[in-house]
Amino acid sequence: MRHDPNCLFCKIIDGQIPSRKVYEDEHVFAFHDIHPWAPVHFLLVPKLHLHSMAAVLPEHAGLMGHMMTLAPRLAMEQGCNPYPDGGFRVMVNTGTEGGQEVHHLHMHVIGGPRPWRKG
Ligand code: AMP
Ligand code: ZN
Repeated sequence: MRHDPNCLFCKIIDGQIPSRKVYEDEHVFAFHDIHPWAPVHFLLVPKLHLHSMAAVLPEHAGLMGHMMTLAPRLAMEQGCNPYPDGGFRVMVNTGTEGGQEVHHLHMHVIGGPRPWRKG
């Protein structure tokens, strides 16, 4: 399904629910997490509704690669400090035991000077 009308992040991508946008292109959308762990904490999501990383197939390799290569660029633009003293964390919680609460695949990108609120 490209879009799930009951999905919170699909509604954010559509602008039906407001968010603080970080980045958008044809395939992905990024916005600040509403409960940030750290000075930088945004979510990078595919516009395609995939419920989780458990739904990823070989045909999504390009999309996943796009997200992974975008993450470091956006992390720096959002104020993460350079590697190796700075850096950032990329996290994709998957399923209940993986700590996933919103069932639209999303990559957390977290960073900035410590201490962090969590992590
Ligand atoms: P996860 O536990 O990996 O599913 O993470 C879901 C994340 O979405 C949490 O960090 C929430 O703070 C964040 N979140 C939930 N609702 C919103 C929202 N309306 N806008 C921005 N972030 C949200
Ligand atoms: Zn969705």
